[in-house]
Amino acid sequence: MENFALASAKKNLNNAGFLDIDLDVKMDFFEEIQRLKKEKNAVVLAHYYQEPDIQDVADYIGDSLGLAQAAAKTTADMIVFAGVHFMAETAKILNPGKKVVLPDLKAGCSLADSAPAPLFKKFKEEHPDHVVISYINCTAEIKALSDIICTSSNAEKIIESLPEGQPIIFAPDKNLGGYLNKKTGRNMLLWNGACMVHEIFSLEKITRLKVRHPEAKVIAHPECEEAVLKVADFIGSTTQLLKYSQTDSSQAYIVVTESGILHQMQKESPLKTFIPAPPDNNCACNDCPYMKLNTLEKVYLCMEYELPEIIMEENLREAARKPMERMLDISRKAGLIGG
Ligand code: SF4
Repeated sequence: MENFALASAKKNLNNAGFLDIDLDVKMDFFEEIQRLKKEKNAVVLAHYYQEPDIQDVADYIGDSLGLAQAAAKTTADMIVFAGVHFMAETAKILNPGKKVVLPDLKAGCSLADSAPAPLFKKFKEEHPDHVVISYINCTAEIKALSDIICTSSNAEKIIESLPEGQPIIFAPDKNLGGYLNKKTGRNMLLWNGACMVHEIFSLEKITRLKVRHPEAKVIAHPECEEAVLKVADFIGSTTQLLKYSQTDSSQAYIVVTESGILHQMQKESPLKTFIPAPPDNNCACNDCPYMKLNTLEKVYLCMEYELPEIIMEENLREAARKPMERMLDISRKAGLIGG
């Protein structure tokens, strides 16, 4: 029998985004999550931008490519996706028979939101000779309208898999698209979307930090604006930034991406210094507000009650699966493994 608190939390789930149930303050969430993993044959996949506690309890921590690959090969019955909505959707697209739960349904993404499906469909219809490559940070509807998906780890390889001269639409991130146009020499038509976190880094403040820490290298994610990328010593996906910080000989880095990755960087290289790049204002906007909606408590709740669950219509799932499979195929053939 459900108690009253649970019944009303379930009723209010769509408004709240998560199961809002008071828990015993003495509960050891680490222990409980480990117990639930065994009991329910569940796997916890966490993005690098999740809070440190969630990263520490996860079975797999990765960037979008690594998480998609982990989701594609898991044998677990339940996938607990500690990330944002489009990532949990991606896991469902690849695993129709498995239960996929997300700690907070309101963990969205400003970049995914910047490409509404009806507008994008019209844009695509205006360019019928173009192949559509979409960055994985988009909704299932946009994936279904795409020919191939990419991540920042494999985007160059995906573009290069198409013949020179093939017209391409790249969506939804205009900054990543512009960076890739330069890297590959293509002239892809760019959808005008952006990530609120990566757009907000202040060139002026990064320059000031460089003056104060002349020994530090600037490492940046390609979702940042061109002016910021111009001052970077190294540009790469989240995993590439992490690997670079481990193998490069410098001892200090100014990290221009979501600040959650600093946890793994510091763990892997405890003697090095990692300085989060400051945003263009005084708030903590280099934290993704969507990623940070997830908490350890919500991870526990979604595992215990198997809610909120990602549900998707089969037609949409099947249409979104094809461009995802193309991406995974090309990545496999190119020997690309996400982190
Ligand atoms: S950091 Fe940007 S792209 Fe990533 S989930 Fe947050 S809003 Fe979306």
